[in-house]
Amino acid sequence: MFSLFDNEEAVLDRTEVMLTQLAAVADGVKVLAEAYRRGYREQRRLVRLSDRMQADLQKANRRLAEQQRDLQSLNVALSGEIETSARLEAELRRLADTDPLTGALARRRFLEVCTRDWPRRADQSACLLMLDIDRFKLVNDSHGHAAGDAALIAFVAACRSALRSLDTIGRLGGEEFAVLLVGTAMADGTAVAERIRTAVADMPVATEGGPIGITVSIGLAAAGPGETLPAAMRRADAALYAAKHGGRNRVELAPAAAAP
Ligand code: GH3
Ligand code: MG
Ligand code: MG
Repeated sequence: MFSLFDNEEAVLDRTEVMLTQLAAVADGVKVLAEAYRRGYREQRRLVRLSDRMQADLQKANRRLAEQQRDLQSLNVALSGEIETSARLEAELRRLADTDPLTGALARRRFLEVCTRDWPRRADQSACLLMLDIDRFKLVNDSHGHAAGDAALIAFVAACRSALRSLDTIGRLGGEEFAVLLVGTAMADGTAVAERIRTAVADMPVATEGGPIGITVSIGLAAAGPGETLPAAMRRADAALYAAKHGGRNRVELAPAAAAP
């Protein structure tokens, strides 16, 4: 039989147990709440961090876009500069390569072109013409230097009218010129030289004192098999000398090159 006292004791014990359990639950809730608070704070911190990072990223992106625009305009300016300097370089080269009065190739460039295009094989042909305006000193003395200059300009124009675009005319100096006819054998070369001679003789040169006439003497050498350019030039020069001595205003052909 339980006494009332026993019953109270049990109730008190259970109450104590319950209170202890409640305290444990309260502690658990506290721990949970603390963990939740910490998690929440951490989450907020991360959100703020990510907001800041996004803002920084946007700023960096804007800077990058600006820098890209700057780079693009720099590139445009730079390629403009490169184009200009390439144009200037080409223009300088053209000026150095060209005789400013007549537009014929300058001596150095003409010799370069001849060296480049001179036949390398026995089955290739070329003719070299040496041209010298006749009694040019007299032209200057009688009509003045300006008339002489006009005659030089008209002379080159007349030569060009008798040449193909792949032929080359160069001013060797003063009133001396040379022509390279590539892929041309003696017979055709002679016809071209004659065409030049008659074109020059028939051409009136306009001067301040009225039209004047000039003539040209031409020496022609057809490239011999294996012949060097300087050797052919010497032969063409000798033929020009013969044309002068033969009375001027004529084409003289160099005897065939000696066999190599
Ligand atoms: P030849 O028939 O023997 O060739 O006689 P030439 O008078 O033509 O020859 P010469 O070498 O005695 O005279 C060439 C002249 O060419 C002398 C020089 O003043 C003139 N000359 C050279 N270059 C120029 C130039 O650029 N302009 C002018 N106007 N005259 C020039
Ligand atoms: Mg002369
Ligand atoms: Mg001369």
